[in-house]
This record gives sequence, C-alpha cells and structure tokens, in this order.
Amino acid sequence: MLDDDMDYPVRVTDLKQFVYCPRVYFYQVCLPKIRPVTFKMEEGARAGQSEVGREERRSLRAYGIKEGAREFDVPVRSKRLGVRGEIDMVVTVAETGEVIPVDYKMSKIAGIHFQMQVTVYGMMLEEMRGVKVTRGFLYEIPLKRAEEVEIDMRMRLRAEKAFREMREILEQERMPPPARNVAKCVTCEFRRFCNDVV
Ligand code: SF4
Repeated sequence: MLDDDMDYPVRVTDLKQFVYCPRVYFYQVCLPKIRPVTFKMEEGARAGQSEVGREERRSLRAYGIKEGAREFDVPVRSKRLGVRGEIDMVVTVAETGEVIPVDYKMSKIAGIHFQMQVTVYGMMLEEMRGVKVTRGFLYEIPLKRAEEVEIDMRMRLRAEKAFREMREILEQERMPPPARNVAKCVTCEFRRFCNDVV
C-alpha cells in the first residue's frame, strides 16, 4: 500500500463488489491473493481507455451541453470519506461554470452502484474544488448513451453509508455477514470460502 493510500484507503471502483455483497469486498481487500484479475476486468479497463479518444472527437451534445472544457482521468481524493479514485472525465460548462463528473461504463444498465459512484465523484469534486455538484453522467459505451444522475441528498447519504462501511471492513479486517439474497451465492466465485451460506 502506498503512503497516499493510507490516508484514502477505499477505492471508488470497489463499490461495485461491495454493493453486490459486502463479503466479496472483504475477500478482495483483506485476502487479495485468492482472487485473480479476470479477462472481463482487464477488458473493462481497456474499453475505458479507448473511450477517451472517441470522447475527444465527440461533441458535448450527448450531455445536453453546448460548450465546455473537458479533463480526462482526473484523480480525486476525499479525506472526509477516506476515499480515492479517478474520474473518466470532468466537464466544466462554459456558460455557467458548472462542474460535471462523467463515468464510462461497459454496462447497458445504470445500476445503483454506478449511480452511487458518480455521486461520490461529485462529492469529491466539491471537497477538492469548492464547487457545488448537482449532477453527473454515466456514459454507457455499448449504447453510446449518456444517462444523467442526480446527485441529491438521498444518493449522497447512501453513498456515504456504503463507503463508511467499506472503510470499517478494511480497517478492522472484519468479515461482514453474507449476502441477503442467497441466490447470489449460487454463482459466486467465493462460494467455497463461505461455509455459512446454503
Ligand atoms: S458466497 Fe454469498 S455470501 Fe459469500 S461472498 Fe459470495 S455472495 Fe457473498
């Protein structure tokens, strides 16, 4: 772990595993050697990279914005949340100065964990830049579609709770309870380590 990582121990991208099942997150961060990086994970990372080139040629119309400045792969940190991450793109709207985080996804569905991810990116930008962030976008690569995410109080509280719990798991190395929906366990790659589930 780098020094920087000690201050910001939780990665935003780990939220997906946590929302699927907190125990998957536990295995990933507390027992990292038992989980290989799958082809699917590497493919997702590559897809995000190649999207940057396309994005530079694309107009901002997909986001309903006429003119704005784009920054790519923007590193973000939150001391308050203990979280670190990198935003695929940040748009600053020319007319209003509004700051908008954009996250690229290989998925065709804007799942709740993706919405929480955009929310926390917005919160981190607020903390670092002293601006108010009220919305973000998920860009669904397969559909070439941008979906707006409202960064409201409900999503903020939900994201804060999730990252607080992730930090506790990491700091205390405490195994959380199993998934509420045991149907998830049937196909889970960690099934053999969870002896207390059906
Ligand atoms: S087997 Fe079930 S409880 Fe265990 S990590 Fe997988 S989803 Fe979670």
